Amino acid sequence: MQEYCGSSVISGHGSKTMKPYAERFYSSKAWQDTRLAYAKSKGYLCELCQAEGRITPGEIVHHVIHITPENIDDPSITLSADNLQLLCRDHHAEIHRKNKKRYKIDNLGRIIPLD
Ligand SMILES: [Zn+2]
Ligand SMILES: [Zn+2]
Repeated sequence: MQEYCGSSVISGHGSKTMKPYAERFYSSKAWQDTRLAYAKSKGYLCELCQAEGRITPGEIVHHVIHITPENIDDPSITLSADNLQLLCRDHHAEIHRKNKKRYKIDNLGRIIPLD
């Protein structure tokens, strides 16, 4: 099973604290199709580990520009490969630690957006 940025697909529905706009997006077919195609295009490997010469499975498709209520309907942000990164859990957590004022990481390593 894999997890994706801000959303877990393990349970089939988002975390209790996920914002409704994000939950709607992460459960959309457009996103499911996009993240699967993106992960496949990267060979299912963490892009940052690969850049460091390591081979690590990518677990999370991360939005470089984080999705917000303002851009959630903009496919050039939400569904564009230019705004996606396939990351391992460690790299994903590292990136989000830099945004810790707006995000927290739960005990399953999931990213929970805060207001
Ligand atoms: Zn990595
Ligand atoms: Zn992320």
